[in-house]
Amino acid sequence: MIAENIENIKQNIIEILEKQNRSWNDITLLAVTKTHPEKKIEEALLNGIECIGENKVQEAERKIPNLSVPYREFHFIGHLQSNKINKLMPLRPTLIHTIDKLSTATKLNRYCEKHGRKQAILIQVNTSEESSKSGIKPEETETLIEKIRVLPHIQIKGLMTIGKLTTDKEEIRACFRLLKKLFDQIQRKNLSQVQMQYLSMGMTSDYQIALEEGSNLIRIGSAIFGSRTYH
Ligand SMILES: *Cc1c(COP(=O)(O)O)cnc(C)c1O
Repeated sequence: MIAENIENIKQNIIEILEKQNRSWNDITLLAVTKTHPEKKIEEALLNGIECIGENKVQEAERKIPNLSVPYREFHFIGHLQSNKINKLMPLRPTLIHTIDKLSTATKLNRYCEKHGRKQAILIQVNTSEESSKSGIKPEETETLIEKIRVLPHIQIKGLMTIGKLTTDKEEIRACFRLLKKLFDQIQRKNLSQVQMQYLSMGMTSDYQIALEEGSNLIRIGSAIFGSRTYH
């Protein structure tokens, strides 16, 4: 069933991209593996998935090193508490999607300095004005980027958002449109140490809208693995 889900979603993505003269190779499909056991993750990796994402450090620590099928990239997509940096970093995340504070970036930079590493990150923006969501306010994003970009071991590679939790598609679209606008604005400034390469937006319920609005990194869980049960 996972193989079939992946094939269906891939076809769906390709159809959307064709309308914009983009192709499969222009985007990254991140399979969000949270709550799912290693067996299911391995099945996805055997059926075309190359990049996997987790949102809790403890769960990632338990599962990611145990996988018996190789993956190309592991991304961290959950809220990162600075006291978990030491636990997350040995898992070698290719990208951390969720930096929204200078203090976390500073601690991450310190870890990287100590271990002779660099870390690619995205800035998480709260585009929906929902107080429950993490993310920097859109109007404060550039200022935060100006502060983080001077940290020598941190590489800013783009922006991430979670669309508004609503059934109103136009409200969701407005979130994605806002992030794309910020992305383009920042890209035009050509700031040193800042690459606007990834625009991470879109999940199972709204990836179609996100792709239409220019997303190039979609984070898909349920459409690949089925619904999640939390214990
Ligand atoms: C869980 C999660 C997803 C995937 O959600 P689905 O609706 O299952 O596709 C994407 N992004 C983040 C940040 C998540 O926590």
